[in-house]
Amino acid sequence: MAFDLDTGQPLLSVRDLSTSFKSLTGWTEVIRDISFDLHAGETLALVGESGSGKSVTSLSIMRLNPAGRTRTSGQVLFEGQDLLHLSEEQMLRVRGNDIAMIFQEPMTSLNPVLSIGFQLGEALRLHRGITQAEAMKEAERLLERVRIPAARARLSDFPHNFSGGMRQRVMIAMALACGPRVLVADEPTTALDVTVQAQIIDLLKELQREEGMGILFITHDMGVVAEVADRTLVMYKGNMVECAPTREIFANPRQNYTRALISSVP
Ligand code: ADP
Ligand code: MG
Repeated sequence: MAFDLDTGQPLLSVRDLSTSFKSLTGWTEVIRDISFDLHAGETLALVGESGSGKSVTSLSIMRLNPAGRTRTSGQVLFEGQDLLHLSEEQMLRVRGNDIAMIFQEPMTSLNPVLSIGFQLGEALRLHRGITQAEAMKEAERLLERVRIPAARARLSDFPHNFSGGMRQRVMIAMALACGPRVLVADEPTTALDVTVQAQIIDLLKELQREEGMGILFITHDMGVVAEVADRTLVMYKGNMVECAPTREIFANPRQNYTRALISSVP
């Protein structure tokens, strides 16, 4: 079923999100007062040059920063609860059932010595409480959904038996295993060559049409932004520079920094 862009209640509301890290010399704030809403079926791009705080923003939402030396303030509202106030155990459930994440380099998230079928099967069993045999059938179905040819045969393959693009498809299958309502994608196409990038973007769009997920798409590439994003949030040195429909950002950038970013598109 296709989903219309839902402008009602947002899936995720981030308010005044700030994060500091502790170092030998004290605390340094690396993101400051980031606020946005993400709706079902919508793609919001988070853009900005390297080091501007995009990854820290997504890791703060997921509470995946180093526990002992991170301070995060603000609100991350998801289904009426503030994720920043959940217990570790409740947060594990949110990561397992509601908000999935994919990264630039899929190898960092896959275990190199376990087969893809095993890893997908474990994710499925954890999240859905199904038997091993059911999990294997479902794992095959997920690989088919992300368009991996000869899905059944590939269940017994290891991560290094797949090309970069195919590995990112496996990671997307892994993310789908939990049936997420929100997908956080941190530079998911940056490490891929251009034709493979386009295929992964098409796949994400197709899955979003089918599932109605809200996608937070992090990238430094304004070409990709133009291709995928309904709305765009521009970051510079940890601050929000502007947040508007992507068409407006391109047609009428309000900040010099945004103008410079756009002119970097080849
Ligand atoms: P981006 O994803 O936009 O390239 P990041 O969000 O990774 O940028 O980083 C923003 C800033 O925060 C950088 O200066 C980076 O060095 C710093 N930073 C990121 N993670 C940590 C950490 N765990 N501890 C200390 N500093 C960090
Ligand atoms: Mg990053």
